[in-house]
Amino acid sequence: SSLTDLVLTHIREVPDFPEPCVLFRDITPLLADGKAFRELIKGLADFYRGRIDSVAGLESRGFILAAPLAVELGIGMITIRKAGKLPGAVFGVDYALEYGTARMEVHPEIVKDGDRVLIIDDVLATGGTARAAIDLVEHSGGEATALCMLLELADLNGRKKLEGYTVDSVVVYE
Ligand code: IMP
Repeated sequence: SSLTDLVLTHIREVPDFPEPCVLFRDITPLLADGKAFRELIKGLADFYRGRIDSVAGLESRGFILAAPLAVELGIGMITIRKAGKLPGAVFGVDYALEYGTARMEVHPEIVKDGDRVLIIDDVLATGGTARAAIDLVEHSGGEATALCMLLELADLNGRKKLEGYTVDSVVVYE
């Protein structure tokens, strides 16, 4: 689609970042192009309009996408954050990384019961982060209606961890 081309042409590939042998996909050129960024958000808004009640952004780059999308749709944004960042009572989920573990947290009361939540992030890699986000949304009483990923790194099989859920990836790297 035209959104796929738009994203594809604005991604920078950085070898050996953040460590040797990793090819990092960098979305900063897309964000820096005001016209492209706006077109992306408008395109996503058109795709999800009327189908979701709130947008959950995954820290940090998911926030950059979730906030303008929520504003464009006139719905709320939920921040799913790394451990220790949200004040007050939180619900958290630990998950495995390639090396070690990580933890994401949410304020469960800001997800309304039965809310249709869109989870959004920049990259789907192994799927651990997205899977944790689903668990957080569902534990909070929401419905993980869809996951929107700008880029999907298919060879890491993230989709397998998300079986039964709708995953909309704008660009898929096979
Ligand atoms: P996963 O949990 O392995 O799917 O990793 C997904 C998380 O790692 C997302 O929050 C991404 O922002 C980040 N990530 C993994 N690979 C890349 C990349 O190549 N570029 C940017 N972010 C990445």
